[in-house]
Amino acid sequence: MSGDHHGGDAAIAARVRHVEALLEQRGLVDAQELDRALEAFLARASPASGARIVARAWVDDAFRERLLDDANAALPELGLTMGGGLQEQRLKVVENTAATHNVVVCTLCSCYPIALLGPSPTWYKSEAYRSRVVRDPRGVLREFGFELGPAVQITVWDASAESRYLVLPRRPAGTAGLDETGLAGLVTRNGLIGVAPV
Ligand code: FE
Repeated sequence: MSGDHHGGDAAIAARVRHVEALLEQRGLVDAQELDRALEAFLARASPASGARIVARAWVDDAFRERLLDDANAALPELGLTMGGGLQEQRLKVVENTAATHNVVVCTLCSCYPIALLGPSPTWYKSEAYRSRVVRDPRGVLREFGFELGPAVQITVWDASAESRYLVLPRRPAGTAGLDETGLAGLVTRNGLIGVAPV
């Protein structure tokens, strides 16, 4: 799906219009049905969906294991999927620990789990981030105000058209009293990309 991989939002919009026209021509769907599907997709395509996944993983160890093992299979438990109605992308969830930290990039362009995070931030698509985070992840994280100890191993995951990544941040200390909704409120988009602690 080269349009998705290289062209950004304009290419996605053009592709969606093209597919819409084909489907309508062939009488396979009507415009209202498509609008409903698109609205449903956009409603869940925000960092709030990624935050819900993390909060559930923090409170439910069995879910966390299923999520790390096969994220695509686990997402429907929260009413989520990676499919935008057209094509389901592979999702891998990578877990931060005291010893290891994960960061996501698309070195080639801007591949990103839009279905769970919404549109990507501008810096994610920038040449500076894409080239530098691979060479010097610690330095890039520092520029985000996120200082990792020298003993922490950093893994950089390179997304592609077929494979997307989501970081499972560490649960912050002092949050034992929070319920799942409260925990989800702590999780930020940047935490889900790996450039913030949570
Ligand atoms: Fe890409």
